[in-house]
Amino acid sequence: MRVPANPSQLDPRFSAECPDCGKTAAWTGGLEQEDGRTYLDMACPHCGNGYLCYRAEWQALFAAFPPPRHSPFAS
Ligand SMILES: [Zn+2]
Repeated sequence: MRVPANPSQLDPRFSAECPDCGKTAAWTGGLEQEDGRTYLDMACPHCGNGYLCYRAEWQALFAAFPPPRHSPFAS
């Protein structure tokens, strides 16, 4: 059973369309490194979907501001 994410736990600066429900998902503060790319751990507060998201423009941001300090929500 999926529990929808709490929107206050998500970083709205990094949002993307949820592939499951089409509403707006946002970054949890988690990161995954794979093949030299940084994927953001996204969560959907509408349907509870969780997925990894990669965008070239975010990649550039993280290169300039290394995680996890970039996000106030990162643990
Ligand atoms: Zn969703």
